[in-house]
Amino acid sequence: MTMDTTPRYSTYEVTNQAPPLTDYDAFAADPVLQAAISAFGASWAMDRLHETGRCVGSAQVQELARLANRFTPEARTHDRFGNRIDQIAFHPAWHELMGLTIGQETHALCWNRPGPGAQVARAALQYLWYGAESGVCCPISMTYSAIPILKQDAARWAEWGALITSNAYDSRQGPAATKTGATVGMAMTETQGGSDLRQTQALARDNGDGTHSLFGQKWFFSVPHSDVFLTLARTGEGVSCFVVAGWLPSGERNGIAIQRLKEKCGNRSNASAEIEFRGAIGHMLGEPGRGLRTGLAMNHNTRLDIAAASAGLMRQAVAQAAHHCAHRHAFQRALIDQPIMQNVLADLAIEAEAAAWLAFRLFAAVDRQESSESERLLARIGAPIAKYWVAKRTPAVLAEALECHGGNGFIEEHAMARHYREAPLNSIWEGSGNVICLDVLRSLEREPGALPALLDELRAAKGADRRYDAALAALDSALPDLVRQEGQARRLVERLALLLQASLLLRHAAHEVADAFIASRLDGGWSGHFGDLPMGMDAASLARRAVPVLS
Ligand SMILES: Cc1cc2nc3c(=O)[nH]c(=O)nc-3n(C[C@H](O)[C@H](O)[C@H](O)COP(=O)(O)OP(=O)(O)OC[C@H]3O[C@@H](n4cnc5c(N)ncnc54)[C@H](O)[C@@H]3O)c2cc1C
Repeated sequence: MTMDTTPRYSTYEVTNQAPPLTDYDAFAADPVLQAAISAFGASWAMDRLHETGRCVGSAQVQELARLANRFTPEARTHDRFGNRIDQIAFHPAWHELMGLTIGQETHALCWNRPGPGAQVARAALQYLWYGAESGVCCPISMTYSAIPILKQDAARWAEWGALITSNAYDSRQGPAATKTGATVGMAMTETQGGSDLRQTQALARDNGDGTHSLFGQKWFFSVPHSDVFLTLARTGEGVSCFVVAGWLPSGERNGIAIQRLKEKCGNRSNASAEIEFRGAIGHMLGEPGRGLRTGLAMNHNTRLDIAAASAGLMRQAVAQAAHHCAHRHAFQRALIDQPIMQNVLADLAIEAEAAAWLAFRLFAAVDRQESSESERLLARIGAPIAKYWVAKRTPAVLAEALECHGGNGFIEEHAMARHYREAPLNSIWEGSGNVICLDVLRSLEREPGALPALLDELRAAKGADRRYDAALAALDSALPDLVRQEGQARRLVERLALLLQASLLLRHAAHEVADAFIASRLDGGWSGHFGDLPMGMDAASLARRAVPVLS
């Protein structure tokens, strides 16, 4: 008699599941990012980008990201004896991730190594990290954006400059003198309004010794344990900007009471708090009553950073979707060989590629803005255009890329669910969609050279494609009406963004990418959904191109 050796409980085999996209170099697997790095003078940073690419693609970082989002931060308002401590407790994974991002200078590479391509290179680090764990990118982006603002004040820079540009992450919550590295936060939004900061109620009382004491509340304050942060409060002259240290030199917590942490839809690894100022000591930054201007300067930096970050999130989602579809079979074929899926993946891929070119072209303008007025103007008007459009398209990309995974994409064990929950945030903070469109209108009004600088950039691709030329001519005739009517601002910004993306693809991308982008988005009849590429496009090869090549 022969024995049945089949394990007793083995009733099925696991087949047809895609292997995890892990332990790969996310930079090496992203030809678009590599091309943008070369095109915009940042090739010197290749080694750093490969290092970060391997780091964010590693199983270790993917696990840290999972842990940091599952075991979310907690507010520790009091110690066990009832004394206020107002600290935040994190899972160790958060600190490890912060150590890696800061160690790779994701917050400060361009400030520490200024020169051609420096802004582009740093933005590429942010792009790569955002696809891995977006929560840590919040303090990173705020620190990056605050550095040039704090630099304008010699005394504050002397106090904080070395700490906030340091590549050492110091997780201890305590005064500056005890720290080896520091991060910067921003507490602007109050209950009555985050967009209209002229309504700020928090008050600042002059102490007569160069400091002010702040009183009032802030309704959203991410990273409330920041070593130092910028905030707004009202003085006799109006709304002014203040630099506030989290801890006083004496070692005491500054007068900042954490009321509670928000329970958020996404961005869960990061702590976002409601706080109250109870006489927090701060130093005024900039002129009294001109605080909104200072705050907006910081916003300008974070807004473009958001465009790069959202492009990174899109790329990660498209890479995951293409990878999954290359391995998963249904109805006798790999999903990536099914014609409808090819159209979906190709359409997603060109969206992500256009987002990346847009963001990095504008960072290149920031790199050149000191020496070129037209580049400064392009960066000024381009940053809100890119922030609006790339952030606006991200939730749509994420939803479609998640759907490519079928049910697996909706399950928390897969990173797609976390990325999906993150997707809408970038179009809310740092100026929600409408407010960003108003900023585009404001830049057109206040910077007479901004529109010509933008049109020059669009005209640089003139003659390369007849449909593009027609869309450009249509914009020219529609512009006078569009810029005059506030209610048309989204329409205006969307058109400018699409044309800017098309002009960049025509000059920098493969012919079939520019062709598909223009045919679908500029030649009439675009639904805005994915899988909408018209006939005649090589969707099969565009989809295959999106599959990350693992090294
Ligand atoms: C997770 C998270 C973290 C955050 N962290 C911080 C932080 O660290 N620091 C900080 O200061 N803030 C933070 N915020 C707040 C964020 O910046 C604000 O939520 C945002 O600026 C919008 O402000 P609001 O919520 O008050 O909305 P409102 O200002 O009430 O706006 C609501 C809607 O109205 C629209 N709107 C406003 N004005 C106009 C207009 N004139 N015309 C047409 N539409 C208009 C807006 O576009 C928006 O869609 C955070 C928010 C979130 C979700």
